[in-house]
Amino acid sequence: VLVFCLVASARAEYLKYKDPKQPVSVRVKDLLSRMTLAEKIGQMTQIERENATADVLAKYFIGSVLSGGGSVPAPQASAQTWASMITEMQKGALSTRLGIPMIYGIDAVHGNNNVYKATIFPHNIGLGATRDPDLVKRIGEATALEVRATGIPYVFAPCVAVCRDPRWGRCYESYSEDPMVVQSLTSLISGLQGEVPADSAGRPYVAGSKNVAACAKHYVGDGGTYMGINENNTIISAHGLLSIHMPPYYNSIIRGVSTVMVSYSSWNGVKMHANHFLITDFLKNKLKFRGFVISDWEGIDRITSPPHANYSYSIEAGIGAGIDMIMVPYRYTEFIDDLTTQVQNKVIPMSRIDDAVYRILRVKFTMGLFESPYPDASLAGELGKQEHRDLAREAVRKSLVLLKNGKSSYAPLLPLPKKAGKILVAGSHADNLGYQCGGWTITWQGESGNNNTIGTTILSGIKATVDPSTQVVYSESPDSTVLADKYDYAIVAVGEPPYAETAGDNLNLTIPAPGPSVIQSVCKVARCVVVLISGRPLVVEPYLGDMDAFVAAWLPGTEGQGVADVLFGDYGFTGKLSRTWFRSVDQLPMNVGDAHYDPVFPFGYGLTTKGAK
Ligand code: BGC
Repeated sequence: VLVFCLVASARAEYLKYKDPKQPVSVRVKDLLSRMTLAEKIGQMTQIERENATADVLAKYFIGSVLSGGGSVPAPQASAQTWASMITEMQKGALSTRLGIPMIYGIDAVHGNNNVYKATIFPHNIGLGATRDPDLVKRIGEATALEVRATGIPYVFAPCVAVCRDPRWGRCYESYSEDPMVVQSLTSLISGLQGEVPADSAGRPYVAGSKNVAACAKHYVGDGGTYMGINENNTIISAHGLLSIHMPPYYNSIIRGVSTVMVSYSSWNGVKMHANHFLITDFLKNKLKFRGFVISDWEGIDRITSPPHANYSYSIEAGIGAGIDMIMVPYRYTEFIDDLTTQVQNKVIPMSRIDDAVYRILRVKFTMGLFESPYPDASLAGELGKQEHRDLAREAVRKSLVLLKNGKSSYAPLLPLPKKAGKILVAGSHADNLGYQCGGWTITWQGESGNNNTIGTTILSGIKATVDPSTQVVYSESPDSTVLADKYDYAIVAVGEPPYAETAGDNLNLTIPAPGPSVIQSVCKVARCVVVLISGRPLVVEPYLGDMDAFVAAWLPGTEGQGVADVLFGDYGFTGKLSRTWFRSVDQLPMNVGDAHYDPVFPFGYGLTTKGAK
């Protein structure tokens, strides 16, 4: 009888934090007051998908799980497979005493890019060239739906880096070298999360279960490192940091961004992951950021100075600096034990833990995760749906930058006629979806070929656009027999292979072989337009004379049809360079406004053509 009574009274007990009618602050305070240290530390811990069994989630009270770049439940996993994986994990989290839902995060940085069949949008550098905040907001909305289709409520996007040196392997993740362009395109956040109501501006905000929590990254100065070396040192005055790298964060906060990710890089020799001034004093206290701060992947492990730094030191330094959620993909048991001891020994004050957990819970309550912790099966059909592909195609069209059109301005080559006789299409990037998409697509480093995702290549777009009377001849690397033929026009698509992060750091920035020789040999035999597929400007001046027309297409994603739409004049060229196009790498870094500014194409440059539609 006693047991029965206890159970019944527990059932009947009114738990304020479970009552959606209570204000978020009341719910957070109520829940926090009930939590043990172990439950609090669990909330601060984000582990990798592979480790996240329901048992682990329940045992350690894990607050969050992630898919690090390309970590998928199965190759070509369906939306349903993702959703059932997340459902299992969530059951583990909800089986705990207090039933706090975990939040699952993924790098959806140009669409839900780890997932087979997802719509892959142009990478940020291309979106920068559109100068179109409304378009980018709509991309955010579509991405949110495609992410929710897989049951995921949280994305590590947008990257609001202001890339000041294209030698950086993450240049393409940056909208622009210009802080104002980056600021304006934080509109992605309003698309992902929903437009924050005027009376809540500056507070973390996610409209509902068709939106996702966003993450502005990487705070701060990631795009300013020495020689563009990834994770390196950003050497700049406080004024420079505030005027170049910080502005996108002001806008992100106003838009209600839920989370901010800390950068691997250092500022004037101090690791950002250990920078108390910038994280706590500035971001939290001065800018009044109320969401949670998340570390980067094993970010605290990389706090390697001073010489006595060990893992324990790193934990203290990172959490002490103000990081709330720690991405500890693998070392989570060690992390939890160590942090527990440090709190028990009062090395890390309880007030710091409470601040972290308060912020994490505030985001979870605000976004409705307690009321809707599970994937919504009705959204599975959002993945890769036609409306989203149409939107991506529009984005591709608007991202293209026309840098040369005709050997003289009196004789423009573009747009090409649809009745064009015979067209040669050449180059490694003409028929390669993986190359179009770049890094952070299906896998971390990206893929090659047409089997890993779904979309249209530039070649298939051309074939679908020209008049049936036009003959399209495709040769990736045309030899002398192919070139002996007569062509009315040639379209050459060359560029960079996919890469991500440090693997993309590059001091030469030349067009990879055999690109240059394909350009030279094809442009000798036919009037040619060169389409460059790349994550950044490359050295092109030596070949410009050979080309009749030159188009920067960046990393357009799955909808290669958008390139053909513009080449053949259904739509006009409107894109403007979001970066300075340098002549040679010894000019770098060179950005708009610099004293010795001598680019081959300046920031903002871009020719236009008239479109039929
Ligand atoms: C990157 C982040 C990313 C994280 C999780 C890190 O290597 O720097 O941008 O969000 O991995 O995949």
